Amino acid sequence: MQCARCPQEAAIDRPYAHDHLCEAHLGDTVWDRSRRELHRQAPRFRGGVVAVALSGGKDSAAALALTHRYFSRRPTVRVVAVSVDEGIAGYRASTLARAAELCERLGVEHRVVHAREELGTTTDDAARALPSTIPCSFCGVWRRGLLNRAARAASADLLVLGFNLDDLAQTVLMNLARGEVERLGRMAPHRHRQPGLVPRIAPLAAVPEREVYAFAQAAGLPFDHSECPHADAAERNRFREIVWELEEARPGTRQALLRTRDRIAGLLEGFGGEGAPGRCRSCGEPSAHALCRSCEYRREAARSGLDVIA
Ligand code: SF4
Ligand SMILES: [Zn+2]
Ligand SMILES: [Zn+2]
Repeated sequence: MQCARCPQEAAIDRPYAHDHLCEAHLGDTVWDRSRRELHRQAPRFRGGVVAVALSGGKDSAAALALTHRYFSRRPTVRVVAVSVDEGIAGYRASTLARAAELCERLGVEHRVVHAREELGTTTDDAARALPSTIPCSFCGVWRRGLLNRAARAASADLLVLGFNLDDLAQTVLMNLARGEVERLGRMAPHRHRQPGLVPRIAPLAAVPEREVYAFAQAAGLPFDHSECPHADAAERNRFREIVWELEEARPGTRQALLRTRDRIAGLLEGFGGEGAPGRCRSCGEPSAHALCRSCEYRREAARSGLDVIA
């Protein structure tokens, strides 16, 4: 099959766009879409610090490379990468090594925060202590909190996340399926600055996962292919399959789910914006509830005998 834009052989098909693209033209469209998203999600951003959450996987590697390129001509903007070491044996060490390699290649400062030091425990320890809880529930909550704190410590004005179109479409459907509509308003990209919360943006929001992978491969970005040993239990897996089935039956479903999110978020704005978080009464971090979920999980882990930092 030939590329829709040149005589080269196509490397990927895009049913939702009714075309096939070669590696070079895929790279062009990924760059165009991420540039547009950065412009749309961070309008009027002239200078400051941009933190990029870097796990060492394909998505965050691509997000860092594209964000770095976007701001490279602006001397008033400094890009730093922040990684969280959740303490997952046989997985996180290799992803962090790839993350460090990419930062060195781009000349970007790399900060790593360790759950063991910040929370007193790790995802592996908590998974053992809480066998009936899906590890991704506390791991994801803790990681989000640690990333926010790391971005704040770096005096960041923005926190870039590597979420791709598939990730976001799954999250929309998960929130709808759980009846947690108000969470749609709190999803990245953030439209407003909330006290204590570094606004999160997602430059890959318009790029499907397959295209991010093909882009990262073609660009020769160092990234780790391994999968977290706890990922099998993730509830997201079911939604990944559902979204994929819907997309195959009706190309464009993922984009439609994001448009749904945008429309609902716009409506919610009239009723208190993005959830208008207050502060957790225990740790003082931004929270939509009196006790944040990070503290809730820490208390649960402590009750199960773990020596966590309250
Ligand atoms: S897959 Fe789940 S447990 Fe593993 S790093 Fe991601 S959120 Fe944490
Ligand atoms: Zn081409
Ligand atoms: Zn708290």
